Amino acid sequence: MKFNPEKYRIPDEPMKPFIDEGEIYEFLEKTKNPDKQRVKDIIQKSLNKNRLTLEDTAYLINANDPELIEEIKEGARELKRKIYGDRIVLFAPLYVGNLCTNNCAYCGYRVTNKAVKRLTLKGKELIEQVEALEDDGHKRLILVFGEHPMYDANFIAETVRTVYKVKKGNGEIRRVNINAAPLDIEGYKIVKEAGIGTYQIFQETYHRPTYDKVHRGGKKKDYDWRLTALDRAQEALIDDVGIGALFGLYDWRFEVMALIRHVNHFEAVYNIGPHTISFPRIQNAFNLDIDKSNLVSDKDFTKLVAILRLAVPYTGMILTAREPAHIRDEIMGFGVSQIDGGTNIQMKGYTKKDKEQRLDEEQFEINDTRSLGEIMEDLIDHGFIPSFCTACYRLGRTGEHFMEFSVPGFIKRFCTPNAILTLAEYLEDYATPETKAKGYKLIDKNLNQMENDKTKEELIKKLGQIKQGYRDLYF
Ligand code: SF4
Ligand code: SF4
Repeated sequence: MKFNPEKYRIPDEPMKPFIDEGEIYEFLEKTKNPDKQRVKDIIQKSLNKNRLTLEDTAYLINANDPELIEEIKEGARELKRKIYGDRIVLFAPLYVGNLCTNNCAYCGYRVTNKAVKRLTLKGKELIEQVEALEDDGHKRLILVFGEHPMYDANFIAETVRTVYKVKKGNGEIRRVNINAAPLDIEGYKIVKEAGIGTYQIFQETYHRPTYDKVHRGGKKKDYDWRLTALDRAQEALIDDVGIGALFGLYDWRFEVMALIRHVNHFEAVYNIGPHTISFPRIQNAFNLDIDKSNLVSDKDFTKLVAILRLAVPYTGMILTAREPAHIRDEIMGFGVSQIDGGTNIQMKGYTKKDKEQRLDEEQFEINDTRSLGEIMEDLIDHGFIPSFCTACYRLGRTGEHFMEFSVPGFIKRFCTPNAILTLAEYLEDYATPETKAKGYKLIDKNLNQMENDKTKEELIKKLGQIKQGYRDLYF
């Protein structure tokens, strides 16, 4: 997959900053009022499975004609239909600790917010939350930590090991991802040893002056330490990393360009792009001490997600529960690969009877408060195959998004059958009778559409085994 990086004014070097604001503005300036044919050609380039350059991306950002915006979105939908198919991987975030020494203006857990209750899950309390998630049917978690000396690499690694050990009934967590503060190379090695999946760190905003303004203290104030954080992870041989920007802090156009620049940096230096891109958006600025002029409208948000899909067609895209259901529904048509389901971001939230949102106890507000069961049913109703697949990671098939994208038949041979198998496990163990009936109907429909080959034969056999009580079967 050798991507030929553009030549930038700041050359790409390991663990060195690479964002050049002037250069991003220049690209955005010189691509204003793009020619229609040019935009169409760029969309086609992506549909032909080519990575877009920073300049191409700027052209799409500057396409403001409603007809062209619709073509961009249709391009993203086409890419999803051609490449990704109907499966959506589900995961849940688990907030392990909200102690934090930073002072981020947009976060309820900032150190100056004395109203928030501080808590760290350990031992029994941690196990109880994981059991509750397993009882819902989850198999993939992302553990979230504030930035605090207590949450060092050893603590994170220990937490990961504990989570993997929790087994309740047929429940188990098969992949643990991490969202935590940047570590040094030694720290990443310790965490890698514990068997993590993806290490995720969002830059929040790539615009240095804004970054400086919204990060008012603590270690997170160091822009470069954070920008180069996932380079250090790569140096520690964690090649599964997730990047993201918090949309609403600065101009979304700049952030999209910077995210693509970050992808280019990884490809230039480590010859592998990030595993995932996340694009959380600040919506309700209640309780948030930020300038609201950069909040992103639904119209711009859906456009920017479609542009990201086209610009980096083989990178996984994560949509979070911050978005209301109708935005989720539209964006999922653009080839989002993962969403969270049944999310509760209150500390110890998964065992609370009262699931009402408490803004004084949460890091931010979520808008999709449906349970995992409701989301499963909704996905099935819309023809998506909800998946809890963790096969590649466990079989050592790395670079999986690239394989999905470029290895002919990969999705047909692996992703779809694994989605069906993990859905069947869910239907057997956790679904309501209605969801179970709908889910098996969807499975039958998918089986009918499959070619009669060895994979199908094997899949039908494995489905029978799941009904008999076997678990964790995959291709
Ligand atoms: Fe702490 Fe993260 Fe919140 Fe910043 S965003 S205050 S680092 S928990
Ligand atoms: Fe992801 Fe691999 Fe499973 Fe496909 S088979 S869904 S690429 S883990």
